[in-house]
Amino acid sequence: MAEITPDYDYDVAIIGAGLIGLSTADSLLSKGLSVFVSDIKSTPMTGASFCNSGMIHPSQSAPWAQLGLVQDERLRVGAQVHSLAVRSAALIAAKAKSLGLNYASRAPGCLQIFHSQKTWEDASARCRQLGIEHSRQPAGALFGDKPALFFPQDRSGNAHDYGMALAGDIAARGGEILTQQGAAPWVKDGRVIGVRLGGRDILARHTVLAAGMQSRRLAARAGLDLPIKRAAGWAVNYALPQGLELPDYPVMEAGHCSALSVFGNTLRLSGTLGETSASSLIGIWTALAPDIMAALGDATAAPWTGDRPVSATGKPFIGRSPLPGLWVNTAHGHMGWTLCAGSGDLLADMIVDGKSDDRFPVPYSA
Ligand SMILES: Cc1cc2nc3c(=O)[nH]c(=O)nc-3n(C[C@H](O)[C@H](O)[C@H](O)COP(=O)(O)OP(=O)(O)OC[C@H]3O[C@@H](n4cnc5c(N)ncnc54)[C@H](O)[C@@H]3O)c2cc1C
Repeated sequence: MAEITPDYDYDVAIIGAGLIGLSTADSLLSKGLSVFVSDIKSTPMTGASFCNSGMIHPSQSAPWAQLGLVQDERLRVGAQVHSLAVRSAALIAAKAKSLGLNYASRAPGCLQIFHSQKTWEDASARCRQLGIEHSRQPAGALFGDKPALFFPQDRSGNAHDYGMALAGDIAARGGEILTQQGAAPWVKDGRVIGVRLGGRDILARHTVLAAGMQSRRLAARAGLDLPIKRAAGWAVNYALPQGLELPDYPVMEAGHCSALSVFGNTLRLSGTLGETSASSLIGIWTALAPDIMAALGDATAAPWTGDRPVSATGKPFIGRSPLPGLWVNTAHGHMGWTLCAGSGDLLADMIVDGKSDDRFPVPYSA
């Protein structure tokens, strides 16, 4: 009997138009596939990708200490993530250039401040083991001359501007981006054949789950357990005071996973892990950099919070799911801006060229 093949609408349907879904769409389009991207919100880039710290920081590839991994495991995972992060940073730079985005106003590098000599020494040793270029230096008078590491290979840029420009580029190249439409994997006869939307279903040869923190819930609807946890972070934006002399690169603070970044005329404090308000973020920087904080006026908007999707190992899930037709690209934790282009590229290689890569497997539990 002849096999009946469905008449597919698209080669690939992607659930989620954040940094990861859009980067995946971009790479697939570049390889000649037709793509459909849906997002439940009214515009792309309003999830965790909306207001992040802007650092493209391969230097931070080791999982956060708060995940409780033993040192050997942190190093093993760190090396795998670092290899993808370095490639991703190069891809982001090339893509940003082709999108006409100018990051040149910011100096290369990121600085990371430590609260104790021991955490500083440990971080420096970990960087040496991972081959991450860094210099040891005091943070400067504005930050109480605390011990710090400078990472010259890191970069920074406005992730939201990048994602919105990427969304425009994808649409201009024939990709469809549908907003205000929640999607779910469409399962039929044991395989995923596209996405179900309210009122419109899309048949696709491949479906990619890139819905950030919502990926777990959507995977469960297809019968899969995707072990992702939520790691909430906060951001508070201020008008950059005139005459305030700040370093021309982002400054991270290691103890609470937070950062101070400048985007044009905006100074952003962002980060922390699992806090229920922005007050601890503000408290951290008031203690660390009182002169800067005293120069700031009121925040320009209410504090923003975003959920970083994290796995138990700190590694993203990039690859084939156990359900035929369904692929996963999520759980990038604190590295999603850094890893976006590399993750999209890697998944596109797997889908289009059949490349296998076992660094970031999707867990197999149904
Ligand atoms: C405070 C903070 C600071 C950060 N700083 C940095 C940094 O400096 N450097 C770095 O590398 N990373 C950083 N990150 C991490 C990075 O921002 C995230 O890893 C990244 O944004 C995750 O992207 P995503 O596309 O997976 O998720 P999201 O951006 O959350 O995108 C998922 C999308 O899926 C959509 N969606 C959900 N459900 C559905 C559905 N049913 N149907 C259709 N669409 C759906 C959502 O609306 C959303 O747009 C930071 C994160 C936070 C919170």
